[in-house]
Amino acid sequence: MAHTASLSQLQTPQWALVNGELVRYEDVRIHISAEALTRALSVFEGLKGYWNKTGNVFSVRSPRQHYNRLCRSAALLHIPVAFTYEEFVAGLATLGRKLLVPDQDLWFRTTLYVTQGHWGEGTVADLVVTAFTQRKHDPDPMRLGVSTWRRAADVALPTRVKCSANYVGARLARIETRRLGYDDAVLLNDAGRVAEVTGACILIVDQGRVVSPPPSEGCLDSITVDALEQVSRDLGLVFERRPIERTELLTAAECGVAGTISELTLIEEVDGYRFEQYGLLAQLRKRYLAVMRGDSGLPGIPLVPLIDEAGQSVSERSAVRAS
Ligand code: PMP
Repeated sequence: MAHTASLSQLQTPQWALVNGELVRYEDVRIHISAEALTRALSVFEGLKGYWNKTGNVFSVRSPRQHYNRLCRSAALLHIPVAFTYEEFVAGLATLGRKLLVPDQDLWFRTTLYVTQGHWGEGTVADLVVTAFTQRKHDPDPMRLGVSTWRRAADVALPTRVKCSANYVGARLARIETRRLGYDDAVLLNDAGRVAEVTGACILIVDQGRVVSPPPSEGCLDSITVDALEQVSRDLGLVFERRPIERTELLTAAECGVAGTISELTLIEEVDGYRFEQYGLLAQLRKRYLAVMRGDSGLPGIPLVPLIDEAGQSVSERSAVRAS
């Protein structure tokens, strides 16, 4: 089954943005000796932009949180960040205006590739922004298998930052579980508790409470989970962050995965253990998508417009002001 998260990067859009300049997608270059390739030194963010319900306003969710996380990932790996938040949003606006089409949302990938330097000396990184269209449809529920590959410990390869190297292990896990017929893999942490899936965090419903592991369990510090926590509270649901044992996952009433691109995708089964499809997570998902479509705002989940109500491009300055 093809899921939204896997489909987007099979596209070849016309344009990308390199250090603020529009470049034809096929002309973006990187040298084979760049540390981005020789030592997997790149950090990135995936941001999602949504058309509102009437299709005249296009907004990006939580760009400041993504910018802050990108800076934190870069700081940990000693990668200098040579652009401000304002320039970051302006870049999304520039590329978004080139690639946006009516009726399709956009997923932006903003990647800092280390292009110069050697083992921390003279490090320079290029900011490359790509964007891929996303169909507005409900993804099918997914089937997961628990992988034998594990999330690295914080002292080995920190998982709460978003660096490309983290996805090497995730790729092994995805390949392993897809061979067994599952859509994606659950990764356990080094203690054998639930960490996350390859590109999203895990939520379960246990005794009427929505539960997700904290980043110290080996998952990314997810912006979507933060947003879902707010939506849960707004719906009057209890939301907890605590470790989840494997057996709790398998015997949970409901299960879902949360991420910018996955939104809140329901899980049908993990290793043959099946979950309720019409419970609290389905409600949460519906409300989250309504917020994304601008039906109702929630403080703490900013939607920054790139195309305004008059169908005009929002100027970079006012886009930044709106965040
Ligand atoms: N974990 C991993 C490994 C991810 O790649 C993602 C997607 N960015 C997430 C969790 C979810 O994070 P977010 O909600 O910030 O997109």
